[in-house]
Amino acid sequence: MVQRIIVAGASLGGLRAAEQLRVAGWTGEILVIGEEEHPPYNRPPLSKDVLAAPGTPEEALAKLAFRPRRSATGIQWRLGTRITASNLAARTITLDGGEVLGFDGLVIATGLRPARVAAPGPQAGRHLLRSIDDALALHEALRPGTRVGVIGSGFIGCESAATAALLGCSVTLVEGRTGPMERPLGRALSAGVRDMLTQRGVDCRQAVSVVAYRGAESCTGVELSDGGVIDVDVVVEAVGSRANVEWLQGNGLDLVDGVECDSHLRVLGEDGQPVPGLVAVGDIARYPDDRNGLPARRVEHWATPTDTAKIAAPALVAGLVGRPPAEATAPLPSFWTDIFGTRINGVGSPASAEETRILEGDPGRLHAGVAVGYYRGDTLIGVVDAGLPASKHLHYRQLVLDAGALVTI
Ligand SMILES: Cc1cc2nc3c(=O)[nH]c(=O)nc-3n(C[C@H](O)[C@H](O)[C@H](O)COP(=O)(O)OP(=O)(O)OC[C@H]3O[C@@H](n4cnc5c(N)ncnc54)[C@H](O)[C@@H]3O)c2cc1C
Repeated sequence: MVQRIIVAGASLGGLRAAEQLRVAGWTGEILVIGEEEHPPYNRPPLSKDVLAAPGTPEEALAKLAFRPRRSATGIQWRLGTRITASNLAARTITLDGGEVLGFDGLVIATGLRPARVAAPGPQAGRHLLRSIDDALALHEALRPGTRVGVIGSGFIGCESAATAALLGCSVTLVEGRTGPMERPLGRALSAGVRDMLTQRGVDCRQAVSVVAYRGAESCTGVELSDGGVIDVDVVVEAVGSRANVEWLQGNGLDLVDGVECDSHLRVLGEDGQPVPGLVAVGDIARYPDDRNGLPARRVEHWATPTDTAKIAAPALVAGLVGRPPAEATAPLPSFWTDIFGTRINGVGSPASAEETRILEGDPGRLHAGVAVGYYRGDTLIGVVDAGLPASKHLHYRQLVLDAGALVTI
């Protein structure tokens, strides 16, 4: 009897899960199914250097494609195929053409899609940024002098605004309720990021939201909650994301924000127990922060698919052969972002801090080197550093590791 693990989603999480299944000793079939036509590729450059200079679509894809690892042997890929439904009790999924496939194990790696701004007005001229096709389309629209309205000041909004400014566009950033990258970085560093943007000519509009778009066929203006109007040629909507969970509905899973998992990335059912043969990896997985005893959350950063796949794949294989999962340590979250050539690194859970303390440097001068510590009580739960050498970043990472209650699971 053929034993099959289906990996749903063919991006970084799907790729790493497939590789780790082989590392964990799975010799049966592995079938990776992904909606995009492209093999797995790297997303972070889509708002940075590839948005600035993608070249042809083929050149962009060649720059971004992940090189298959040696462990990725005998993996089947079905790209350009959307999974529309699943029946976990019957162990089947349904594809967009109506085909039904059975599985013994299932890895959920369908990630996120961008949220949209819920405001009336024309659709044309409003861009999103998640895929290579999104980046190519946005790049085409960015010319020197183009008036760009970026809505949302998280990582992707700030990076897009910086890249558009570097391309000579006239950029307005609609920050929303919080300042630039304020949720992950806190107020002090957020103000430093705003300074960097404004020094390069980005017009940062604070504490406003979009109420409507103007224009007959294409978007020509953005009406703001403070009564202001921005004239635009192009809009970039970067207001967060939604988990791609619709195909899992009807199975009694908690899908409120991604897929609820235990510390082994095993998906939890209605009874709070792991559903046999089911794990999740990457941006879509909501798992407990054992280090700091914080509630389960999703971690939308590049390191997460790799880190979670290393835990989820062996746990899935163990479950399929009737063994308990081996001990594992919950991954330490980490992220980076680049603004005008300044690298900002984060480690731990800064967004969950009760208090911040400056460890070195001046948050108002990020490029000159700064580090901020994030605390709950007296426990250091995260550090963000900017403009510092890699050795310093590793030092701060170690401090967070040493401070955290390292729970072996
Ligand atoms: C523009 C951009 C810049 C970023 N920059 C940084 C950065 O600087 N630093 C950092 O730490 N992180 C960054 N990230 C985040 C990082 O890229 C993500 O954390 C990572 O891509 C998550 O991988 P994933 O495989 O979990 O999900 P995704 O990459 O979202 O992949 C999910 C895949 O599943 C497919 N899919 C969805 N639904 C279905 C379905 N029903 N059937 C079949 N396939 C489906 C999707 O098409 C997609 O290919 C950035 C992300 C973006 C978009």
